[in-house]
Amino acid sequence: MAKWESSSSSNLAFQLPQWMQIQLTEQKQEFNKRPGKIGRRSFSRSVSQSSTDSFSSAASESDSSDDEGTPRDKVQKNSKGNSDFSIKNIKQADFGRREIEIAEQEMLALVALRKRAQGEKPLVGAKIVGCTHITAQTAVLIETLAALGAQCRWAACNIYSTQNAVAAALAEAGFSVFAWKGESEDDFWWCIDRCVNLEGWQPNMVLDDGGDLTHCIYKKYPHVFKKIKGIVEESVTGVHRLYQLSKAGKLCVPAMNVNDSVTKQKFDNLYCCRESILDGLKRTTDVMFGGKQVVVCGYGEVGKGCCFALKALGCIVYVTEIDPICALQACMDGFRLVKLSEIIRNVDIVITCTGNKNVVRREHLDRMKNGCMVCNMGHSNTEIDVASLRMPDLTWERVRSQVDHIIWPDGKRIILLAEGHLLNLSCSTVPTFVLSITATTQALALIELYNAPEGRYKQDVYLLPKKMDEYVASLHLQTFDAHLTELTDDQARYLSLNKNGPFKPNYYR
Ligand code: NAD
Repeated sequence: MAKWESSSSSNLAFQLPQWMQIQLTEQKQEFNKRPGKIGRRSFSRSVSQSSTDSFSSAASESDSSDDEGTPRDKVQKNSKGNSDFSIKNIKQADFGRREIEIAEQEMLALVALRKRAQGEKPLVGAKIVGCTHITAQTAVLIETLAALGAQCRWAACNIYSTQNAVAAALAEAGFSVFAWKGESEDDFWWCIDRCVNLEGWQPNMVLDDGGDLTHCIYKKYPHVFKKIKGIVEESVTGVHRLYQLSKAGKLCVPAMNVNDSVTKQKFDNLYCCRESILDGLKRTTDVMFGGKQVVVCGYGEVGKGCCFALKALGCIVYVTEIDPICALQACMDGFRLVKLSEIIRNVDIVITCTGNKNVVRREHLDRMKNGCMVCNMGHSNTEIDVASLRMPDLTWERVRSQVDHIIWPDGKRIILLAEGHLLNLSCSTVPTFVLSITATTQALALIELYNAPEGRYKQDVYLLPKKMDEYVASLHLQTFDAHLTELTDDQARYLSLNKNGPFKPNYYR
C-alpha cells in the first residue's frame, strides 16, 4: 500500500496516513513555535505592516486599474516572462503578496499541513483545475497544493469576489489564474474555459465551488473526465448538482462533498456568515442595525449565522423557512417564523440564504417599503429575481460600487446590493481563520481522492471520512491554546471507541 493510501474506505477502520498521525503535544509545540519573533499578537491584522497600507483587500479593489478594459484583450507577462494567465493588472503583485502573507498568519493549520506533508509530496502528478473565490485565503490553499506537488490552473467562481491584487500575486508566482473582479457572464465562462481547454495539459482533479466548472466540463469537454480521478465540491449548490448527476447515473467520477463535512458546514457557513453579513451591509450602506426589522429567508447554517449577528446588534429578526425542523429551530432560538408575503411591507432589510431560486420575486419587491435593502448570502444569484427588476417601468441608479437604487414610478426606491450576488464575498472580506478550516478540508479531500487505491471510491458522492474531519479540527484547535481531554482506556472501552478517534459516527452533525 502506498504511503498515501489509507487502509479502508469504511469510516471506523479508516487510518490517517503516517504524516497526519500526530500527538496533540506535538501540534502544540508546532503552533507555539510558529509566531517566532513576531509573537502571538502579530496575528492580528490591526498591527501588521500591510494592514496600515490597506484595511483589506476588498478596499484595494477600487484601484486605478479598474477602468483599463477587459484583461481578455491584453497580454501581460510576469517577471519570468510567463503570460499564461489573465488578470486585471500584474503590477499589483507585490501588494497581493502581502495580502497572502497576512492570510497565512491566520491559516497556520494549512501552513502546518504544507510543511508536514512536503517531504512526501502527496500531490505529485496531480493537475488540479480549480474554480473558487480568488482571495488571499484561496491563494494560501493554491500555494499549499503546489507545495505538495500539484500543478494548478484556476478561475473564479463568482464575477465579483476576485481580489485583483491576489490574482496578480498568484500570476507572478507562476500560477495560471484567469479571474478579475467585475467579470461579465461571458468573461466568467471564458476564464473557466481557459483553465480546462489547453493543448498539452489535461486536468486530473477538479476543485469546484458551485458546480460551474464541473458543469462546463460535462457540457463542453466530457472527454476530460477520462483522466479525472475525482471532484471535490465545496458548496451546497454544487453538491446538490452532483447528487442530481449521481441520481441520474451521469456522474462518471468519484466526488467528495466537502460542504457536508462538519468542519466545513458547521464552521464556514455559520461562523463566516455570522461575522461577514454585518461587514457587507455596513460597507455598502452604512446602515445602523439597532431596531431595524430584518427578514432572513432560510434558517440553515448561513441563515443562522446571519440571524445571530443581526439579533446581537439589536435588529428585530424574522425568518422564513420551508423545512419544519429548521423552522422549529428558528422559533426555539427566539425568531418569529413568518411567510415573506406577511412581513414584506414592514421590513428594512431582506436577506436570502436558501440556495434556492426566486425566493424574492417581483410581487415582493413591489410591496417593499421605500429604502428597503435587499441582498443575498446564498451561493448563486438566483435567489432574488433580479431580472424582474430590469423592466422599462423601473429606473436603475448606481449609487456606489455594488449598490443600486431601483426606482418605481411613484418614487419608491429599494436598495439592491451586489445585483443579487452573494453579499459578503462581493462587498466585504470574510474571516480568514474559518476559511483555513475549509481550505484544509479541501486539501485533504484532494489528497484522499488522488491517492485512494483503485476501487475505494466509485462513481458516487462521498463524505470525507470523519477521522479527517477530526484531524482538521485538531489542527486548528491549538490556535486557541485549547486543552483537549483524552479518553482513559477504561472510558474508551466503555464507549467502544478508539482513543485516537473517530469519536463520532459519520452521520453526526
Ligand atoms: P442549508 O441547506 O443548511 O440552508 C438553506 C435553508 O433554506 C434550508 O433550511 C432550506 O429548508 C431553506 N429554504 C429552501 N428554500 C426556501 C424558501 N423558498 N424559503 C425559505 N427557506 C428556504 O444551506 P446553507 O449551508 O445555509 O447554505 C445556503 C446557501 O448559502 C447556499 O447557496 C450555500 O452555497 C451558500 N453559502 C454561502 C456562504 C457565504 O459566505 N455567503 C457560505 C456558505 C454557504
